[in-house]
Amino acid sequence: MFEISSSSASGSVSHASSPLIQVRDATVVLGGRIIWQQVNFSVQPGEFLAILGPNGAGKSTLLKAILGLLPLSEGTITVLGQPARRGHTAIGYVPQRRHFEADVHVRGRSIVRLGLDGAHWGLPLPLVQPRQKREAAFRVQEAIERVGASAYADRPIGELSGGEQQRLLIAQALVKRPRLLALDEPLDSLDLRNQQGVAGVIRQISRETEASVLLVAHDVNPILSAVDRVVYVAHGQVAVGKPEEVITTETLSRLYNTSIEVLRASDGRIVVVGQPEEEVSYHAHRPR
Ligand code: ADP
Ligand code: MG
Repeated sequence: MFEISSSSASGSVSHASSPLIQVRDATVVLGGRIIWQQVNFSVQPGEFLAILGPNGAGKSTLLKAILGLLPLSEGTITVLGQPARRGHTAIGYVPQRRHFEADVHVRGRSIVRLGLDGAHWGLPLPLVQPRQKREAAFRVQEAIERVGASAYADRPIGELSGGEQQRLLIAQALVKRPRLLALDEPLDSLDLRNQQGVAGVIRQISRETEASVLLVAHDVNPILSAVDRVVYVAHGQVAVGKPEEVITTETLSRLYNTSIEVLRASDGRIVVVGQPEEEVSYHAHRPR
């Protein structure tokens, strides 16, 4: 774990409220290899954290550990004070790279509804009382409106663009009114216009609802204005802090153990030069 000035401890120091997520000394080993180790950070209510780093560094693994989908080798992760566990209703999750082929005829609204039922593909929706049914329809409509998908929510999802599908998947994650939205590369494979649109929707959700956001991204720029802190995963280590503290020539060079240059374009965009890609597949991290 990398200590980045005071903010690596900000979870426990500067906030009066108790953290939504608390990661303590967490280590994950997969296939006999340490993915990352001794990770410590917390997520406060309403906080927006970006999880950054190269492909294969362990970003999705970090989200899955918080979701209770894979075990830690060491340490603990708590969600609202309880050990992380699968299916926690406080977390809405959009996994990486989900898209629907053109021949999927299920309506967008039904996809959103699945977030309430936890129903599996092809199974009939459970029978519910009329009052519950009305409440369910209301929650689904609320989530659709939050992501701005009303105009196309009743069309077959396979016919929609990548950006429209992504908005509906975010609505699916929102429908239980979660305290935390965990989004794994929601901007991946979208064109620039849709990246900006979906990033804007997520920013707005984080302001309007009191949900915290943990968003895995390849490029921090589309979400930079919304981000409170970044969790940078690289080389088996994790650095946590404010973007201006973590995304620096000094910190990234230390994290990657090679020379990295961080440049600021005149429009405020951050450019990272020399960042090794796909590094992890070729490295064996030994316990330190
Ligand atoms: P990222 O999301 O940052 O691209 P991942 O978290 O998906 O990276 O994966 C981190 C590393 O863990 C990769 O090298 C990947 O191959 C490896 N990995 C993921 N799942 C497993 C598994 N079930 N068994 C062994 N290795 C795995
Ligand atoms: Mg991933």
